[in-house]
Amino acid sequence: MKVFDELFHSLRLRIFLVVLIVGIVPIICLKFGVLRSYEDEMISDRSIEIQTQCNSVSNQLITYNYLYDPSSEKVNAELAQLSNIYDGRIIIVDSTLRIIKDTYSLDEDKTILSSEVIKCFQGENTIRYDEKNRYIELTVPVMDNMTGKEQSIVGVMLVSASADSIMVTLEDLTTKLNLLEVVAAIIVILIAVIFSKSIVNPFLKMTDSIAEWGEDVDEEAVSKTMTEFTETHLIAESFASLLSKMKSVDKTRQEFVSNVSHELKTPLTSMKVLADSITAMGDAPAELYKEFMTDMSEEIDRENKIINDLLSLVKMDKTEAKPQIQSMSVNDLIEVIMKRLRPIAKKRNIELVFESFREVTAEIDEVKFTLAISNLVENAIKYNIENGWVHVSLNADHKDMYIVVADSGIGIPEDSINDIFERFYRVDKSHSREIGGTGLGLAIAKNAILMHHGTIKVSSKVGEGTKFTARVPLSYIE
Ligand code: ADP
Repeated sequence: MKVFDELFHSLRLRIFLVVLIVGIVPIICLKFGVLRSYEDEMISDRSIEIQTQCNSVSNQLITYNYLYDPSSEKVNAELAQLSNIYDGRIIIVDSTLRIIKDTYSLDEDKTILSSEVIKCFQGENTIRYDEKNRYIELTVPVMDNMTGKEQSIVGVMLVSASADSIMVTLEDLTTKLNLLEVVAAIIVILIAVIFSKSIVNPFLKMTDSIAEWGEDVDEEAVSKTMTEFTETHLIAESFASLLSKMKSVDKTRQEFVSNVSHELKTPLTSMKVLADSITAMGDAPAELYKEFMTDMSEEIDRENKIINDLLSLVKMDKTEAKPQIQSMSVNDLIEVIMKRLRPIAKKRNIELVFESFREVTAEIDEVKFTLAISNLVENAIKYNIENGWVHVSLNADHKDMYIVVADSGIGIPEDSINDIFERFYRVDKSHSREIGGTGLGLAIAKNAILMHHGTIKVSSKVGEGTKFTARVPLSYIE
């Protein structure tokens, strides 16, 4: 049920429901509150009114000595009128709890044992509202007001008055309030529809315009459509930045692929030229063949080196390929590298020195770490001058080790220094090629150092020399 699922998860529906609940619940509460307090007030007003009238009747009861002789026409007429007005019943009880008058003439001469009556004799008036049967029941004391004496309660009037008329007014009010409630509910629904629409609209607009975005998303395209809410504007901006990042990744990838193809093609082209020219020569002397074959073999070696370097890079790029970390002596490792490279340095009479400030043991991936240091030292030899020097030093503090590879070589121009770690970047392409460079050595070295969560820095002066400093943590952090 995709439609229901979408509807249920729709932001608009949720905002609509929230506004609806927030709007309608108070209206309903208000209605019941108004009705309740109005009802309470009317019952209390009516009770006071009855009490006042009963007080004046109770005075007459004393005047006409009614408690002892309930035959007074005037009082009886008054009682009948009163019970008529309130559509109720009046019972008069004397001090012996005997009913001496009942306007319904049902219980006269009987004894009443109602708690209200007893309480009234004790000086406590009660007013009770029977909600179910809709009548008000109250007691009024009949006071003996003989002058010079303390007033005493000589009888009690027990009055039950119908609350039907109050209910009629209340029902009338309920109808009006219901009408008001319906009107208010319609207004709230309208507000909820408009409000939820106005909140959701910028998001829909944003979705539409993002779908319309082409290859190039400039600031203008972002700001033009997304100005209504700060939040939507921020989302649009993040999208734009994500898109530009993706474009840049794509550009780098394309550049890389075209660089790779170009680099791989160069040795092949040379080989093709060599092969074609020797074939075109017809009867060439055996020495020439040999020379051409040697050249071709060199080109094959070159092709091989590029492929091997690329494979090393690709291996390090794979994030899932876990480094083979083990704790080992970095001093020994560098010694081995130096030993391997010494013959190459010797060819150009370059002095190769390793200076170790202390014994350093670290958690490293032997193969990748060796690759990084070898490339740095190899470069220091390759881009050096005849009779120059290469200084490698190793030091450490409690956390990191520092490897410095300094040389007395040709140096790197300032405007190239930020690019040398890029794949296939070479300051002087033909020179690099001549000495067998692929342009991948420093990219490999940097990747290997980063893999160990380290950093690599370079400083250089043309004609004076170059210094690479690698900082690598002694313990490997996963
Ligand atoms: P390559 O295979 O060409 O040596 P690298 O990635 O190792 O590629 O180095 C990139 C470029 O940086 C080199 O072509 C070279 O121009 C420059 N470079 C690297 N190391 C040094 C150095 N020690 N002295 C001078 N230039 C250097």
